[in-house]
Amino acid sequence: MSETNIRKAPGGGNAASIPLMGNKAEPTIFEFTKTHRKSSNLLNQGIEKIDIRSAVADKYLRDEPVNLVEVSERDMVAHFTRLSHRQYSVDLGAYPLGSCTMKYNPKFCDELASLGCFKNMHPGAPASAVQGWLKVMVDLEQILCEITGMSQATLQPAAGAQGELTGLLLMKAWHKDQDHRKSTIIIPDSAHGTNPASVTLGGYKVKTVGTNELGSVDLESLKSILNEDVAGIMLTNPNTLGLFEEDIVEVAQLIHSVNGLLYYDGANLNAILGKVRPGDMGFDIVHLNLHKTFATPHGGGGPGAGPVAVSERLIDYLPGPKPVLLDDGYYDFKIPSNSIGRIHSWHGNSLVLLRALGYILFHGPKGLENISEMAVLNANWLKKRLESTIPAAYDRPVMHEVVLSAQKLSKESGIKALDIAKALLDKGFHAPTVYFPLLVHEALMFEPTETESLDTLEELAESIDMIVEDGKKDLEAIKQLPKNTPVRRVDEALAARKLIATFDSIGD
Ligand SMILES: *Cc1c(COP(=O)(O)O)cnc(C)c1O
Repeated sequence: MSETNIRKAPGGGNAASIPLMGNKAEPTIFEFTKTHRKSSNLLNQGIEKIDIRSAVADKYLRDEPVNLVEVSERDMVAHFTRLSHRQYSVDLGAYPLGSCTMKYNPKFCDELASLGCFKNMHPGAPASAVQGWLKVMVDLEQILCEITGMSQATLQPAAGAQGELTGLLLMKAWHKDQDHRKSTIIIPDSAHGTNPASVTLGGYKVKTVGTNELGSVDLESLKSILNEDVAGIMLTNPNTLGLFEEDIVEVAQLIHSVNGLLYYDGANLNAILGKVRPGDMGFDIVHLNLHKTFATPHGGGGPGAGPVAVSERLIDYLPGPKPVLLDDGYYDFKIPSNSIGRIHSWHGNSLVLLRALGYILFHGPKGLENISEMAVLNANWLKKRLESTIPAAYDRPVMHEVVLSAQKLSKESGIKALDIAKALLDKGFHAPTVYFPLLVHEALMFEPTETESLDTLEELAESIDMIVEDGKKDLEAIKQLPKNTPVRRVDEALAARKLIATFDSIGD
């Protein structure tokens, strides 16, 4: 790579040139623990040493000491800082991982979440002591209902998948009260993998509906599998191909005609904010991933929030206790009359909820609409810009993300979607989602999001053009990439086949 090809910060960061401490492997913290090494010594502060054996009854004593790491504060900070330098993050540069909405999140929301008045509150505090917190939750519920066109919501679910399970339990409770006997849920073949998993966990069977040549739910296929046994359908709109389901009103009528309910997987709301509402399309249940659309980064193992909003007929089944505003202006907790019970041990991941409320109020209605417009514009720009290198799988205007297919390129040149994804890492970009949705061959799914500038998108497109050009000249060379990352090509399947979940089992 010549000097001019190295991306310069600002304008998307420059992950390729960030010092990564060479490719030296970082040991786990257990590997440099030393007996009696400490971060601080309380005895120096005059605190008296006691022998625990004289202070507690024998039955409470462990047979063996617990295996804790013993490291100095200095070594520990260096270890975690080194690890953090080996990471790619939304703060470092573009992260176009489709179906994930890895967008930059304003730091203002983190500031809000670090205020002591929110952060230091115990979730078990009585309502009288947390009136402000309850107002945050009630206001957020109302706003999310306004955005989705629903009546009420629960903020308890801690992730999208948990929201899905909650939605299915709500469906089940409602059908039971209506004396409906139903056992199947319809899901499109393009659906996110969590959908069929949640259906199974919720005690239903999955029926798959096909996709037509335009990338939408195939109405004929839907009609052929529809009957009184169908409890409902789970749809993502825009779907996982990044396309808007234009027949959605007809789909809703069909499902309602057999007393089924419509579940909207609203994990990625980035395309429709202020534009269309699931409630107006005929949906009965919607989950939202606040950790994708509303100010909390998705992934990395951090907490999320998957609130579920419902139409009028399902409000009595919502999880409880639920924060409510009483007529006298006082906030309290209430358990809905037919509640399915708790979904979370407390009230949800509160600081994620707070960030979302801050983000929504900060942008206001016009700002939210603008987010959708820019997200859709960016995805369509990228689709058009890459048209001659890697065309879209379905040649239709897309919403917030675009699925490209490298099938033709791969047949002609041997360059696979995976090679492009890996080579992009060396260019300082995070890879797109690859080989998903499953029905697209050699799929590369880009979600540029609204937060990336035109300059960054052009750099991304140029990088892809360059990778393809290089690959056509020397295929073997691009199969070896990345070469500038701390870890190079890994065996994609080994971790799934040979799971090693704890340090102790390494070497077994
Ligand atoms: C991310 C995602 C989910 C799952 O959300 P989690 O919070 O990761 O459980 C479900 N559906 C779609 C379409 C998604 O993009």
